[in-house]
Amino acid sequence: MKKDTGSNRETTKNWRPATQAVRSGTMRTEFGETSEALFLTSGYTYDCAEDAAARFAGEQEGMTYSRLQNPTVRMLEERIAVMEGAEACRATASGMAAMTAALLCQLETGDHVVASRALFGSCRWLVDSLLPKFGIEATVIDGREIALWEQAVKPNTKVFFFETPANPTMDVIDLRAVCDLAKAKGITTVVDNAFATNVLQRPMEFGADVVAYSATKMMDGQGRVLAGAVCGTEEFIEETLLAFTRNTGPTLSAFNAWVVLKGLETLDLRIRRQTMNALEVGKFLEQRVEKILYPGLPSHPQHNLAMSQMEAAGPIFSLHVGGGRKEAHGLLNALKLIDISNNIGDSRSLMCHPASTTHYGLAEEARLEVGITEDMVRINVGLEDPMDLIDDLDQALSSIGL
Ligand SMILES: *Cc1c(COP(=O)(O)O)cnc(C)c1O
Repeated sequence: MKKDTGSNRETTKNWRPATQAVRSGTMRTEFGETSEALFLTSGYTYDCAEDAAARFAGEQEGMTYSRLQNPTVRMLEERIAVMEGAEACRATASGMAAMTAALLCQLETGDHVVASRALFGSCRWLVDSLLPKFGIEATVIDGREIALWEQAVKPNTKVFFFETPANPTMDVIDLRAVCDLAKAKGITTVVDNAFATNVLQRPMEFGADVVAYSATKMMDGQGRVLAGAVCGTEEFIEETLLAFTRNTGPTLSAFNAWVVLKGLETLDLRIRRQTMNALEVGKFLEQRVEKILYPGLPSHPQHNLAMSQMEAAGPIFSLHVGGGRKEAHGLLNALKLIDISNNIGDSRSLMCHPASTTHYGLAEEARLEVGITEDMVRINVGLEDPMDLIDDLDQALSSIGL
């Protein structure tokens, strides 16, 4: 009996999520390698000129050039699509390449976008600065208020763009309500799902059209490579996204795809353990600082909504230490184990001060409107023993008088 390596969607779509994360998308060569092969090749050869012509005409299966297709990248795309429950997926060189492609491939001059204001810094730049350059107007709203989405819609609104939970304020957006509204108005929803990943939250189950990722974060999960992905219907990917990505070239390298494939194998394990650790660290911090913003804890105003659309709240949250930049920087500088880093999704615990790093590019007024105050710090809780993290935070907080 021939085994299914994971390349047959009819089989893999019925596997349970943890199995999909380990095996789906795998294509084996004639050598029968267990681990996915790394295809470092930019081009492909053909047996005859007629074959080359047939492949370019789309009449023959096969690859033509690694800006367009690569077997290692293809395996990653298939694995993410299966995990997402999406018809199709294409990988990109970074999360920002994914967000840019997901928006620009479907928008044109004269279109209008509604976006939630609590977005990753560069995503806000796309909405505030890049789209208007091409005559694409954007309205930025507090995405937690459904009425504001409805009020912002215009006859030329093409896309709703948001992330949930949002970086770094941990605002939670009601996926079902926003997607229902979009569907009723013929608007395409683009959801940045980098924080939760498809292990904890599957926006398409709530009606989202396009789900985009920074795979740099939890999917790699060990702080090694940049990568991104866009998931959608076969029609959206084939007819709309591919024309844009194939010709503009935000292509993921085969090596980086291979690293992320390996990361996905442990994503389910890592994100669940990191969430358990984050809950322990969060409960400790809640006793010691002015305010913590973690949808996983009942103290978060949107805890119930978060738990109704996510399996668990994930490893990242923010806190207000009280005071201002002096206190926030003081806390970071006193850490002995946890690193100061603006990265997230890593198996190491990392902390940063968003106002002076990830969201430095945002005007102060816009930062404050979103709630990114000078006393806010963000933490990515890793795979270390949570008691060591708590010990480190305990001594660092004491050193700033908390
Ligand atoms: C990191 C991040 C991005 C950008 O991804 P890169 O891989 O760094 O380009 C976009 N959205 C969110 C929510 C992120 O955390």
